[in-house]
Amino acid sequence: METLLLKNTEEDLNTAAELIRRGEIVGIPTETVYGLGADAANENAVRNIFSAKGRPADNPLIVHLSDFSEAEKFTEEIPALAYRLAERFCPGPLTMVLRKNDRIPMVTSGGLDTVGIRIPSHPVMHRIIELSGCPIAAPSANISGYPSPTSAMHVIKDMSGKIAAVVDGGQSEFGVESTVISFEGENGVRILRPGCVTKNMLLEICESVVIDPAILNDLAEGEKAASPGMKYKHYSPKADIIMIESDLESFTEYVKAHGGDEVFSLIYTGDEKYFPYRNMTYGGNSSEQAHLIFQRLRELDEIGAEKVYVRAPSSEGVGLAVYNRLIRAAGFEVIRI
Ligand code: AMP
Ligand code: MG
Repeated sequence: METLLLKNTEEDLNTAAELIRRGEIVGIPTETVYGLGADAANENAVRNIFSAKGRPADNPLIVHLSDFSEAEKFTEEIPALAYRLAERFCPGPLTMVLRKNDRIPMVTSGGLDTVGIRIPSHPVMHRIIELSGCPIAAPSANISGYPSPTSAMHVIKDMSGKIAAVVDGGQSEFGVESTVISFEGENGVRILRPGCVTKNMLLEICESVVIDPAILNDLAEGEKAASPGMKYKHYSPKADIIMIESDLESFTEYVKAHGGDEVFSLIYTGDEKYFPYRNMTYGGNSSEQAHLIFQRLRELDEIGAEKVYVRAPSSEGVGLAVYNRLIRAAGFEVIRI
């Protein structure tokens, strides 16, 4: 199939919406990363998303709606806390796991009786949802296991010939996927996947916020994942990624002793002034690092890097999302100095 490249014009967004209504898959920009969008209620379309990505069937898709009030059509027993969170964080990069009803097929939810609901703020995604009138299932638009796409070109690279169209909406603002939460008790939530809505931001509305242990630790053999996506190898470029948690001085010493220019280093912006070996920078603070991380992992493959030492990001605030993606890209290989 030929993959159309569409632009952010009303005519092209109508084309995208029409394709989705017809059961096709369209690459769509969002404020987090690009998604592979299809009608969440159309089992065939959803099956095609799983096969285009090579995604395991038990890894559920997030369903995107135009407004949180729409969630009532697809879920049951929405907790009062969800409405308070929606008032503060929707539209935006927050996904709430709620009990689903029959309008969301089991293929979409990966066999679970819950569904992740998100209200995206990106005007292109928002308009396509409105024009199509469909709930839109949209996982990240990468080949399963590979770094997520943050530009239309990334989507074309992974999906050309496999999907009907890609809409170019520029670079994704946040650069990492949404924060996924489930509800615990009346006033608590659990973070299943960290994103740009941070623990402290959630604590403005919730009494308790638990960070699921699977965010920072490898699951033990046979252990059940609260967030099925967390059990798979993820976000990995072809290069072997090794994370080094240390200050710049010790990082430099380590690289000097273990390859110097023979390897590639991914360091903070600003570090390069003091770092004499081959490197690429990925931003000077957590938000910049979130914005750049997937693009850099893809660039490392483009230049043919085989082994990459990454100076570990802070795990505070938005940094937890960056740390979580990198520790998975590194297959939990972390050297702490
Ligand atoms: P992606 O589609 O690539 O953004 O990944 C979505 C992730 O959200 C999945 O891998 C799950 O980890 C998580 N998720 C989606 N729906 C649910 C759900 N119903 N329960 C728990 N986690 C979910
Ligand atoms: Mg993904």
